Amino acid sequence: MKDISLIRADFPILSTSVYGKPLVYFDNAATTQKPLCVLETIQDVYTEYNANIHRGVHAISDRASEEYEKAREKVRSFLNAAHKEEIIFTSGTTGSINAVAFSFGERYISEGDEVVVSHLEHHSNIVPWQMLCERKKARLKVIPMNESGMLVLEEYYKLLSPRTKIVAVTQVSNALGTIQPVSEIISAAHSIGVPVLVDGAQGIQHGITDVQKLDCDFYVFSGHKIYGPAGTGVLYGKNKWLSELPPYQGGGDMVANVTFDKTTYNELPFRFEAGTTNFPGAIGLASALGYVDALGRENIAAREKELLGHAINILTGIPQLRIIGNNGSGISTISFLINGIHPYDTGMILDKLGVAVRTGAHCAQPVMDFYEIEGTVRASLCFYNTIEEINLLGTGIEQVIKMFS
Ligand code: PMP
Repeated sequence: MKDISLIRADFPILSTSVYGKPLVYFDNAATTQKPLCVLETIQDVYTEYNANIHRGVHAISDRASEEYEKAREKVRSFLNAAHKEEIIFTSGTTGSINAVAFSFGERYISEGDEVVVSHLEHHSNIVPWQMLCERKKARLKVIPMNESGMLVLEEYYKLLSPRTKIVAVTQVSNALGTIQPVSEIISAAHSIGVPVLVDGAQGIQHGITDVQKLDCDFYVFSGHKIYGPAGTGVLYGKNKWLSELPPYQGGGDMVANVTFDKTTYNELPFRFEAGTTNFPGAIGLASALGYVDALGRENIAAREKELLGHAINILTGIPQLRIIGNNGSGISTISFLINGIHPYDTGMILDKLGVAVRTGAHCAQPVMDFYEIEGTVRASLCFYNTIEEINLLGTGIEQVIKMFS
């Protein structure tokens, strides 16, 4: 892989400081930093060909439409989806899940049906389904988790029944960094004809996602968590589902013909992209995916594994510290607590040392309830972090402990 100093030079924010100290950014699970190529791509859109897509007959509108459709093709190849029209641009993971929950719900869910989610979900893969269940008088079933932060498959199998209409699970827990057995979850659901939505918000950036190999029915992720712009996201859906689902929102570009008597809808994928989309963002996201491919997804995974191993070594060497969930086999995200010290205090002190971590419930309150805690400190690392930065986290934590002892 490219030399780490060159990689870091691609991300201007990594050479800034906070409180006079070099920024150590360990909040990558919340959002990732952006390489120059993404910033330049977006700037190019606005300075060279900013015009609404799929509408104009003029040159720069054509160019914008072309680049937007190239971006869709980039996402298709990144996910290894079978068809380009299976890629819908959205505002993010949340936008994608709400679209499926609404659209799938309208078409397939009625009173007494069941929707299966898991105890490990981010709120955005719980609440849209709860809202659907409320609307349709359906029931939400929850796959339980265990102490190690893994879903309990035997219990999941028992939940599946003729009433089950869809399963929605996360590929990786955002709160704990544990990788979930989504392949097993998908094949069990498929054995009774039930589709599965995989929340890839924390999975896509840490390895190789091949939606055909995974055989998921829907796969969703956010651009901003994979070095792309905020307000961008993707909904992948198998053609066989998307072509059956009603549109989620009405407006421009999603229609074929509009009269006051009857409106007919556009073909896939445009049917699910009503209004002016964040086309500069989608083009920027494609640039981010290109950056990831240039570094090499295997290289990224290997580097993050090395960083995770070092972080686990440092953190397990601190006797007052308890790691929750990730034993080293997860992604490079570690949640932890320090005996007798509130996560918020730990986060505040680390911040003053220039180290940015996340504290709290990480939008996964049920996970915190499972461990009977209010929240954790979460350090989420990525390929542009360094061993030295992890050492700084370690000494920072020692300092926190000293201050409170
Ligand atoms: N699911 C998971 C697993 C996440 O980590 C997140 C973001 N923390 C989301 C969903 C929601 O993503 P967004 O806010 O980008 O829509």
